[in-house]
Amino acid sequence: MRFLAIGECMAELAPTGEARDYSLGFAGDTFNTAWYLARLRPENAVSFFTAVGSDPISQQMRDAFRESGIDDSHVQTVPDRTVGLYLISLNNGERSFSYWRGQSAARQLANDPQALAEAMDAADLIYFSGITLAILSSASRETLLTALRDARASGKTIAFDPNLRPRLWSAPSEMTKAVMQGAAVSDIALPSFEDEADWFDDANPTATADRYAAAGATTIVVKNGGDPVCYRQGDTRGNVEVPALSCVVDTTAAGDSFNAAILAGIEANTPLPESIAQACRLAGQVVQGKGALVPVQA
Ligand code: ADP
Repeated sequence: MRFLAIGECMAELAPTGEARDYSLGFAGDTFNTAWYLARLRPENAVSFFTAVGSDPISQQMRDAFRESGIDDSHVQTVPDRTVGLYLISLNNGERSFSYWRGQSAARQLANDPQALAEAMDAADLIYFSGITLAILSSASRETLLTALRDARASGKTIAFDPNLRPRLWSAPSEMTKAVMQGAAVSDIALPSFEDEADWFDDANPTATADRYAAAGATTIVVKNGGDPVCYRQGDTRGNVEVPALSCVVDTTAAGDSFNAAILAGIEANTPLPESIAQACRLAGQVVQGKGALVPVQA
């Protein structure tokens, strides 16, 4: 199976422990999922669809894709732009993030319908997120949603993590509307209950699953931190317990890695409850390590 993840990867500056010293990395929700997928399924093609600039940091990012086993042949170049950046600050162990991404090249990733169609044609499973939708202009968002709808109609499987980030939207109503448009073109929805409850007033994870089912998704997996994962596949519903962990170091990319294991399970035709258990084991390793990209055992 050929996977295509669509979204933004950013340069990351993470504190090394020395005052005012940072190490450079690359991360971003859909990229993180592609990165974990490439670890779980090294024999498969995992491709990342984005846009970068033509400056040295953009080239370094492309090199990082390839070094991670991620195909960069659908990465577009926007010559007068560069990649987005975020910096992690640590205050008494608490992480906070500063972003410079307003002008990132990735905001133009869906400007070219032809490039989207070519990349989607070459894929079997296409993954995107609410952050992918958030960074686009409304015209580009429409272009992306149309391309996804067409791809789904031609038999591709579409997977979506709503990843609600109100700060990336001009108004919460714009976010909730676009996210449900994303759900309407998707087969698989991978929401996180806490965010969904905040912005859609869902009373419980079952209500979240039912809302995405009503929007048209047929497989829905609702993450909920250390609480049970709720799923719905057609009319079959259930919950899977999350193994308790003795320590949680950093929850960055917990959901992204979890999603990678679910997508790997779809490819392998693994029964959904079993995939969820594997996803919990993977995310459990990720939250016990630092940063978004944690070396894990598949
Ligand atoms: P997101 O990162 O999208 O907000 P969650 O926080 O719900 O997602 O976490 C995704 C998965 O990571 C959970 O389903 C679980 O498997 C694992 N996880 C997250 N937090 C914990 C925790 N405190 N204890 C054990 N597992 C956790």
